[in-house]
Amino acid sequence: MKLKGDQSTSRALNRRLILNLLRQEGPKSRAEIATITGLSPAAVTFVIADLIEEGHVTEGKAVAGLSGRRPIPVEINYANGLAIGFKLMVGSVECVVTDLATNPLASRRLSLDDNEPENVATTLAEAVPQLVKAAGRPHARLAGIGVSMPGVIDNGQAVCVRSFRFKWNNVPFASMVAQKVKVPVWLEDDTNAYAIAQQLFGPGRHHRNMAVLAIGVGISCAVIVDGKLYRGAHGAAGKFGHTLHEENGRLCECGKRGCLMAYYSEPAMLRTWREATDRDRSHNLSDMLESAEAGDAEVNRILRDAGAGIGKALANLVNITDPEVIVVGGEAVSFGDALFGPLEASMAARTFFASPPLLPDWEDNSWARGAAALVTQKFFDFETVDGTTGMSEPATPTYLA
Ligand SMILES: [Zn+2]
Repeated sequence: MKLKGDQSTSRALNRRLILNLLRQEGPKSRAEIATITGLSPAAVTFVIADLIEEGHVTEGKAVAGLSGRRPIPVEINYANGLAIGFKLMVGSVECVVTDLATNPLASRRLSLDDNEPENVATTLAEAVPQLVKAAGRPHARLAGIGVSMPGVIDNGQAVCVRSFRFKWNNVPFASMVAQKVKVPVWLEDDTNAYAIAQQLFGPGRHHRNMAVLAIGVGISCAVIVDGKLYRGAHGAAGKFGHTLHEENGRLCECGKRGCLMAYYSEPAMLRTWREATDRDRSHNLSDMLESAEAGDAEVNRILRDAGAGIGKALANLVNITDPEVIVVGGEAVSFGDALFGPLEASMAARTFFASPPLLPDWEDNSWARGAAALVTQKFFDFETVDGTTGMSEPATPTYLA
């Protein structure tokens, strides 16, 4: 084990510090990097030379200003590699291939016949060559694959310890895929992966403390504390949807009764609406949305109740973690103000101090991009660095190829 102050450790720390600065601020000259980070110009020159040689960083064009020639800026070479993101859902997989800044280059949706881990791994592995081809970047190298799924993920983010939705227990899914594709594969809880993407390239770049709330098939959250995703002792943090809403209430997928998500996940709201209006199962989310837009009183009552219920629980999260902003994603975002108005009001009425703004994320493929962000995070070794300029312990990357 290397000690702090060891030459290679401090080199790794400097490297992460510089890469994160370039990620947050965009192109910077070597002199600017030295000033902002407090590193010596020699140390900056040394690290940048390494990064250029490895292809992670490129030199931009020097801009001639009034005072003469300006120094050459350097920037992260996001085009240097490709990342594939797979978001697993029951019955289907959302796939995206991106550059290393998680900009989508191509995407598609695959269907899953069953949830058998081996079959799912085969489906993903078979899609990889097609996705790489569809990216249209023949010179870019596939840096890795990120897989996100709902569940408790642990052991260096390689094993699905438990997923109620997939009925998986202790499935070493990342290595199952890696054995077939021969590139590094990382596995993460879907909301955590989504939060990592928001932290790397979304609003999280500007907030050291933020939360992500997902309202879709389930309800979950992820919290970034001091620039780092909080995963908990077992990788089970953020299971917000399983907080108690009603004692001995509706049965939840986890086997317990009365969980928040048994009432206000997107399918739960849909169920409430069907039951209240005697509609059968042929009526889906888009029918419910249509009714909401037409001003249907029953739908709006259901959305008000859901907003109030989720907001009440969210106030507890805010009182404990004090986030600056909350990014909201998931299928229920399409309900818009009819849901988020009551949610914000209910939360604000119960927060002890500041009630953070909710930032709805309307982008379609940001969940699969979240999975691709797992690759970027590891590839550039961003993981153990906080959201601004500081850093914590050196990373121990897990490569499973
Ligand atoms: Zn539950």
